[in-house]
Amino acid sequence: MILPRFDVLVPESLEEALEMLGEHADKGVRILAGGTDLLVDLRRPIIPVHVPRCDGCAKHPGGMVYSTIDCELWLSEPTAHAGGSLRNALQDSRRISPQYLISLHLLRELKGIKRLDNGSLYIGATTTIREIAHSEKVRRCWTALAEGADNLGSPLVRNRGTLGGNIANARPAADMFVPTIGLNGILKLQSLGGERLLPARDFASGPGLTVIEPLEILTAVIYPAPLSYSGSSYYKLANRKALEISTVGVSVSLTLEAPDGPITDVRVALGAVGPTPILAESAKGILLGETPDEPLFKKAAQAIRKDARPIDDHRGSAWYRSNMVQLLSERLLKIAYIRAKRNK
Ligand SMILES: Cc1cc2nc3c(=O)[nH]c(=O)nc-3n(C[C@H](O)[C@H](O)[C@H](O)COP(=O)(O)OP(=O)(O)OC[C@H]3O[C@@H](n4cnc5c(N)ncnc54)[C@H](O)[C@@H]3O)c2cc1C
Repeated sequence: MILPRFDVLVPESLEEALEMLGEHADKGVRILAGGTDLLVDLRRPIIPVHVPRCDGCAKHPGGMVYSTIDCELWLSEPTAHAGGSLRNALQDSRRISPQYLISLHLLRELKGIKRLDNGSLYIGATTTIREIAHSEKVRRCWTALAEGADNLGSPLVRNRGTLGGNIANARPAADMFVPTIGLNGILKLQSLGGERLLPARDFASGPGLTVIEPLEILTAVIYPAPLSYSGSSYYKLANRKALEISTVGVSVSLTLEAPDGPITDVRVALGAVGPTPILAESAKGILLGETPDEPLFKKAAQAIRKDARPIDDHRGSAWYRSNMVQLLSERLLKIAYIRAKRNK
């Protein structure tokens, strides 16, 4: 792997990191967390030769170098991105080599998992995937997130990769990002001007693109406290178990009024079946207020299938992905339901 030249800056506080970000913005600067996505992105050639790409279609006559995107299908969506067209943004963020990487590894305030007074879960952005997979707190109450962590990469990747990096990288298949949307995670974004909170579902604006401002750092993710009788689940379907990006990812979280009562809340998030992770809105319309049973879950899964917008690529066809969305949604609704009944 050939990497371009860059300098690594090592701030000792969040404020210093934000100042460095502003100071070097015009020379090309990126945040470095675990580096498991970033360093791969910086290599030359950026996109491996075997990966399909658009070399020029009706919409993008100048060509478009990006991995598995079908431009006609996905870029025809009116996807907003601050500061220019989606194409320009992709090119800017993926082609230009940064002169500086700002490493977050000394910033203690960005690390760790804690329960807040209101019962929410606070996970610092540089908390590693391994720490999340090993956290009993996470597994007990935010199970889908632990299951995302279990299935990300390999032990080596989980030791280095971070929650913030997985979300900020905004891949449609990201194994922490999808359950974060399913669990209604809220992102804390910090700039020198202050802090803002953003629902994770509103963060990605396209494959690898987000609405983060150039001078902002993702500092933490807050997961709301689950109510009584809530359960969640995540499943990553991939061509092999380790070191493979998902072909389809489904995350379900569900709340019941009582163990045998109706559904009072449900969120289904889908990965790798659209330009960004998708919150499947149709699940709510069918499931809310209803008492769960097999036919209800089957009907909901059929509707969720229609929320997916998969494409054909080397991991699977659109047809296969749609079928798997339906099958996995039905299965995961059942698993989340069983867990919800037990969680008083
Ligand atoms: C072999 C291999 C296997 C993998 N398998 C999987 C897999 O199965 N599932 C999966 O989802 N991913 C997988 N990945 C991707 C990657 O490991 C994860 O996405 C990981 O969580 C990224 O975290 P990181 O800390 O390494 O991010 P980095 O590479 O450091 O950063 C990723 C991007 O996010 C930005 N960034 C990082 N942190 C912040 C922050 N706090 N604020 C603002 N921007 C930030 C960086 O500038 C960069 O653009 C794999 C990677 C490798 C190399």
